[in-house]
Amino acid sequence: MGTELCRSCGSCGFPMRNPDDFAGGDPDAAYCSTCADASGALRPFDVVLQANAEYLVREQGIDLRAARSMANALLASMPAWQERR
Ligand SMILES: [Zn+2]
Repeated sequence: MGTELCRSCGSCGFPMRNPDDFAGGDPDAAYCSTCADASGALRPFDVVLQANAEYLVREQGIDLRAARSMANALLASMPAWQERR
């Protein structure tokens, strides 16, 4: 079931469906284009945290402070950040 492209980002859990969703537009990338740069390298935690928080602000209409708290909890549970806590 599903397709090769139906994966989720190892950093933020974002479902990556289109090539553009993957870092560098590469469907083999482990991370989404928000969490990693064009070469597929994971961005610094603070950058990813802020990007995810801003996404939550837009999608859920919550304030940035609450969004950063939510994003922090989300990222802490993801494989990409397990070794960085
Ligand atoms: Zn991501």
